[in-house]
Amino acid sequence: MRKQTRPQNWRVLKVILLSLLTDFKKYTKVLFYAKWQRQWNTETDNKLHSVKPHVQPWPSLLNRKADTLLTRLRVGHTRYTHRHLLFGEQTPMCSECNCSMSVKHILSECPNFNSQRLKFFKTNSVDLSLLLGKTPHVNLFAFAPHLNRYDSVECD
Ligand SMILES: [Zn+2]
Repeated sequence: MRKQTRPQNWRVLKVILLSLLTDFKKYTKVLFYAKWQRQWNTETDNKLHSVKPHVQPWPSLLNRKADTLLTRLRVGHTRYTHRHLLFGEQTPMCSECNCSMSVKHILSECPNFNSQRLKFFKTNSVDLSLLLGKTPHVNLFAFAPHLNRYDSVECD
């Protein structure tokens, strides 16, 4: 009788310990996300903050090329906007606005793209978090080829 209850007790103990471990993992994950979010909330000058104000993970797109393009647009690092760093050239400037060219400028600020923004996003004032957020705007990839610099935005 005693030999039969001991393994039974071990199984129960094992289930309890695994349950506690699972709860502990969930608890620490929530704590770390909360700490990360508090830190991220202080970094409002970071250009990524306007695109992703919350630290929860976002799903990847099924199409690898589209996912890479979306990530480059989200972080604002495209071949066109950053190649000058590799080649020691001057920062590309917008001839219309006389400011340095950036993804944010192209997608949401430059009047050169107002008609394309109206056509694809139904507004010429685009919020980057809605355009490049967790669920990218449905017309984002339709808009991209209409940029004169699409080849420079596109990934290899
Ligand atoms: Zn411009």
